[in-house]
Amino acid sequence: MKLCKTIVEYKTWLAENPKNFSLGLVPTMGALHDGHISLIKKCQKTCDQTIVSIFLNPAQFNNLKDLERYPSNLSKDLLALESLKVNAVFVPRNKSMYRKEFATWVSENMISTTLEGKFRPKHFIGVATIVVKLFNIIQPTHVFFGEKDIQQLKIIQSLILDLNYNIQLVSCKTIRNKQGLALSSRNQSLSKKELNCASAIFRGLSLAKEQFKKGETSSRKLKKTILDSWEGEKELSVEYVEVVGFDSFLPIKHITQKSLICCAVFVGKVRLIDNIFLN
Ligand code: AMP
Repeated sequence: MKLCKTIVEYKTWLAENPKNFSLGLVPTMGALHDGHISLIKKCQKTCDQTIVSIFLNPAQFNNLKDLERYPSNLSKDLLALESLKVNAVFVPRNKSMYRKEFATWVSENMISTTLEGKFRPKHFIGVATIVVKLFNIIQPTHVFFGEKDIQQLKIIQSLILDLNYNIQLVSCKTIRNKQGLALSSRNQSLSKKELNCASAIFRGLSLAKEQFKKGETSSRKLKKTILDSWEGEKELSVEYVEVVGFDSFLPIKHITQKSLICCAVFVGKVRLIDNIFLN
């Protein structure tokens, strides 16, 4: 496994490798868990070479405290990647990604306007900018993103089409623990009690999906089912829960198209997001 700490190191590694191979990129912010690992394994199955990037991107945090609290454990991550036999890891320093005079931002202006975009101003500008930078540096043929961050995935899809990147986007299923909680680096910051409580998130979403499968198409009623199911959970504080159309990510009243439910919930101080496809 080649550890590249600078752009030059990565470019040198790339130049030394055979040219006609498929190169898969798995972008991460570190504190790796089985969700990340599933993306990496899918990449290894799909591509000749697998590159993992680890970069805690300050530009996508709209709240400094949130950035400071974000878990990181680089040495543990590198050991895990070594044992997975990924071909290269790109771990750039902040300074090499954002020069002092950095002033060029990438902004998707449709899907970014709702849900996470509303509650985390500029978050998706930070995401789109770092992803474009990684595309330009790494030059992947394939890129792997998780459905856990479904709105992000959708924005990356637009970005690839709008900016004419010749990159195949591979979406990967959400990996959950036995209780249904979507794995997230942020889960590491939860106490045992909070972890237990957090599993109510997906239970609520699943209840609404069951109700939809039985014929309920009113978003209001599905949302009520979810909120009622979270009612007794003292540690939970809901930021949003919304039924949205998959094409626009805009809230819908009645489910007549491909739709999903997205939510953001605080469990204590930790903000978690999740989603479930209805059809
Ligand atoms: P992050 O390090 O949180 O930025 O995530 C890096 C990538 O891993 C993103 O594409 C995420 O959507 C994906 N990911 C995070 N958690 C999960 C999960 N539980 N299951 C599948 N993919 C995930």
